[in-house]
Amino acid sequence: MRVLQHRGQESAGIAVHNGGINTIKGMGLAHQALRPEDLRELKGNVGIGHVRYSTVGSSSPENTQPIVMSTKHGDIAVGHNGEIVNADKLRNELKKRGWAFATTSDSEIIIRLLANDISDTDDPVRSIKKVMSVLNGSYSLTLMVDDRVFAVRDPYGFRPLCIGRTGEGYAAASESVVFDTLGGEFIRDVEPGELVELLPGEVKSTKTGLAKGRAHCMFEWVYIARADSCLDGRLVYDVRRKIGRRLAIEQPVDVDVIVPVPDSGRSHSMGYAEQSGIPYSEGLMKNRYVERTFIMPEQTDRSTGVMLKLNPLKSVIKDKRVALVDDSIVRGTTMRKIVQLVRNAGAKEVHVRIGSPPIRSPCYFGIDMKTRDQFAATGRTVDDIAKMLTADSLGYISIDGLVEAIGHNATDLCLGCLNGEYPLPVEGEKVRFQKKLDSFT
Ligand code: AMP
Repeated sequence: MRVLQHRGQESAGIAVHNGGINTIKGMGLAHQALRPEDLRELKGNVGIGHVRYSTVGSSSPENTQPIVMSTKHGDIAVGHNGEIVNADKLRNELKKRGWAFATTSDSEIIIRLLANDISDTDDPVRSIKKVMSVLNGSYSLTLMVDDRVFAVRDPYGFRPLCIGRTGEGYAAASESVVFDTLGGEFIRDVEPGELVELLPGEVKSTKTGLAKGRAHCMFEWVYIARADSCLDGRLVYDVRRKIGRRLAIEQPVDVDVIVPVPDSGRSHSMGYAEQSGIPYSEGLMKNRYVERTFIMPEQTDRSTGVMLKLNPLKSVIKDKRVALVDDSIVRGTTMRKIVQLVRNAGAKEVHVRIGSPPIRSPCYFGIDMKTRDQFAATGRTVDDIAKMLTADSLGYISIDGLVEAIGHNATDLCLGCLNGEYPLPVEGEKVRFQKKLDSFT
């Protein structure tokens, strides 16, 4: 689980089957949440684990995962990555029918629906398919139904999910880096709308017939996933370098040194430096014991987090014209602080180049960017944003450039946070391709 720690740092949990399902969960990083003495007691042959980054539901102990429930046919457990868009609607409908809910998490709805259906049918595959058919949104799930383990990806494949093999048998994980680290082997991505069962000697696949066309989240390649993971056939590191190269073509700058913003801006910066021929130098040193700043839910945490996290190297920066290259700007808090750090370290000029287009619209599919007023790009031109950052200049990659670097068709990506057009209907928002339909009127 520590291999996927970058995906969530608020809480961690593990559920293992041994007659029934036993769970250990706690707040914080995996090694804080799961104490070695408790783990030693946790015996079983199959299990699922989860690290949480909250998008729906508060960051609190009752929302930790996996969530476990008991049915008359045995225990079930679920680990969910993503966000259910129709969660409130489903919860209200179910409440009217007399159901009670213990948490504010959308994931609880998934397990309650599943528990209810499995109690009726005792046929997990049928029940999982049925639950999928009422869920709207993003969900990569690992599920345990008694001692059977399933992995499920939503019909658009918003969030990643893949299958691999280790010495112990088959496993599913959000990112392929898990299999590298466990000395195992990556087999393939779970397809959008696919349900797989991990059996001792085989991976049994069921196509649900729900697949709708792809909508992989572009932000996974830009920022979320580890650079050494391969998502939907594209190595994240390669994509980030291509982004950097393209950014150098689209947004050139005359400077003495390219300084990456560690860690997520590193591969983008490498690409930028390669393409531009400008020297690349590590001008910001990172304290590796500080967590990813975005996953700190409070804005104040994020802003002091930057100072704790990064220290400028004066010998690289002093009297130089510096271009800082980073993956993205959401609120701009981090970059503003970094620009100031670099200026205070004696830089002559500080320019900023960004490996994703301006983020202007909320994400409803698993990234915690919820309101337009929090974005640096809302109501501001690029020049205005540069002023806010106190940078000498600012340049973003274009949407076309980003799509080309990822290497999937634009129609196979979710670009909702960039262009405000979403693959699924979201109340008050525009649906992807809607423009074409309007042109018929
Ligand atoms: P910001 O200070 O909000 O501009 O963000 C700084 C860094 O954190 C950038 O690398 C962003 O991509 C990342 N980031 C900011 N907010 C989020 C979020 N809600 N979820 C994921 N990453 C984020």
